[in-house]
Amino acid sequence: MPTTAEHPDRSAAPGGGSTAGPVAPTSGTTRLLPVAPGAARVEGGWWAERQRANRERAIPEGRQHLEDWGNLDNLRIAAGSHEGEVRGPVFMDSDVYKWLEAAGWEHGREPSERLLQDIREVTEVVAAAQAEDGYLDSVVQERGGAVEVGPSGDAGSRERYTGLPWSHEHYCAGHLMQAAVAVSRGTGERGLLDVAVRLADHLATTFGDGPGQTRDVDGHPVVEMGLVELFRETGERRYLDLAQWFVEARGRGLVAGHGHDPTYFSDRVPVREATTVEGHAVRAVYLAAGAADVAAETGDGELLEALRAQFAHMLATKSYLTGGLGSRWDGEAFGDPYELPADRAYAETCAAIGGVQWAWRMLLATGDALYADALERMLYNGFAAGVSLSGDEYFYVNALQVRGGSHADHERSPAGGRQAWFGCACCPPNVMRTLSSLDGYLATTDADGLQLHQYAPGHVAADLPGGRLSLAVETDYPWDGRVAVRVLEAPEAPVTLSLRVPAWAEGAVLRRGGSEEPVDAGGYAVVRGALSAGDVVELDLPVAPRLTRPDARVDDARGCLALERGPLVYALEQRDLPEGVLVDDVVLDAEGVPSDAGRVEELGDAVRVRATGRARAHEGGPSTHRPAGDPLPGPGDAVDLVAVPYATWANRGVGPMRVWVPTA
Ligand SMILES: [Zn+2]
Repeated sequence: MPTTAEHPDRSAAPGGGSTAGPVAPTSGTTRLLPVAPGAARVEGGWWAERQRANRERAIPEGRQHLEDWGNLDNLRIAAGSHEGEVRGPVFMDSDVYKWLEAAGWEHGREPSERLLQDIREVTEVVAAAQAEDGYLDSVVQERGGAVEVGPSGDAGSRERYTGLPWSHEHYCAGHLMQAAVAVSRGTGERGLLDVAVRLADHLATTFGDGPGQTRDVDGHPVVEMGLVELFRETGERRYLDLAQWFVEARGRGLVAGHGHDPTYFSDRVPVREATTVEGHAVRAVYLAAGAADVAAETGDGELLEALRAQFAHMLATKSYLTGGLGSRWDGEAFGDPYELPADRAYAETCAAIGGVQWAWRMLLATGDALYADALERMLYNGFAAGVSLSGDEYFYVNALQVRGGSHADHERSPAGGRQAWFGCACCPPNVMRTLSSLDGYLATTDADGLQLHQYAPGHVAADLPGGRLSLAVETDYPWDGRVAVRVLEAPEAPVTLSLRVPAWAEGAVLRRGGSEEPVDAGGYAVVRGALSAGDVVELDLPVAPRLTRPDARVDDARGCLALERGPLVYALEQRDLPEGVLVDDVVLDAEGVPSDAGRVEELGDAVRVRATGRARAHEGGPSTHRPAGDPLPGPGDAVDLVAVPYATWANRGVGPMRVWVPTA
């Protein structure tokens, strides 16, 4: 099947060529718009290193994993070109699509014949498996839906869509759509898009309220985002309508109708009536991100307000210091408000990615800096910890504490260190696609000018109504808080340049043309007026190490403090403590002033942070409790505590680690 025809005119499609990256709204109802593909470039520092490892190691090795674990063979078997039984969980196709999405964005960043060849080959495998009527899901085609993942023991069935709570048929379809859009925008080739369009047409015919249509939703959201992106790419309104239908149909008992508890599936309360996030964390945030897409494209202010309240409640009560989401291993789920255990945190890497996607869409819709702040926290901590500095090993679970003597009882256990792949491999290719599309999160535009939300050395450009604005960003962020924005090209007309000042950056200063002014944290420093080539605007964000305390209701962290520096959360690792001092016994000096402690080359030149503390004597004893009158062990000897960015932990071997540290 031909799959790699050049699309003759990319600019003919609403999203194609003119708007960018992870999300490209078309409706004009969002406050902000992404910059064009390739117009924002990370060219050095923290993210460039991770993107390089992603390109050179993760993506090539990822293709090999898809061969070794059977993902590609499953599709070949469904196509009839291979013999054998399909392997792995029911959503195996989605890993292929996430890999294709990563490869597509990556080719857009920097074209590569090798990558293009890989994309073409994998696209052919996918296309060959598609059924005549557009249906595509290799595992269901061969083995049936509703198998092996459901705790309630849904009986396997070869019938399509008979076990949607667990079959992931729409989930796989959604990832295919996202991949197709990425490959189309990143390579200009439309072969995968043709496959996605045929599947989307099949879904739009099959599902909905119309005569002969099926009223049902997939247990795992993501098709909502995929359909809206496909609508943006093709202009086909039916895809947006179906995404809207899926969002509205949720929370009305469709999943419960299969005999399941609806909470896990984000199906207990209609999206526009929900006041918080609950259930399976990745499902919940993917659904919210898809709903934000629908709200943006349809101008649905009520839905957007509901999502704003849900996001706020998540930040205030259900998100970790690292931006990690989901505190329960049981059901990979959000817990109750303030239920945030550090050692048993689930905080799936995919949940941080979904959180980033939701935050980005809320930022576009509202222009509110709090979403860019949340996105930064998730990216630098909960997400970045999910992948090794070498780029090809992954955490599925991102706990904030690993105890001495902890036993890795599961392939996902943090105590076992990062893994090259997983039997359920949702996280690795999700990391890949996030890193390869990351440039798209740096900046946006509106009618007046350009907004810089995330800081990295590189270039950003945009065609504004008055002409082209082109900027070079020079910085050693996040290690250094100085961000110099050099104007390379500017329109004659006045423009507004907005630079985000994170909420943690109290005391930030903006310098321009010899003048200097303080700027408020938690918003944007704004420069208005005519700019010319050679102008430099400099933002100085104080990144000095600081101590952070938990909300008083977070029982698990009560009496503890954490170290932060700029956007980074820090962690104590056993290997950095003096001989004989255990992380579990360390007490942080609450009155101390943490300071920089030099760089560590083997952790990507990360700046370490020094704090003062004590090593409390190990109490031991016959039980884990004492009479209230028994004194606590004395404060012990003073120790020098050196912490590293949480995102870099377990890159020098795995050992005990903690983020929240008790105070004396
Ligand atoms: Zn995952």
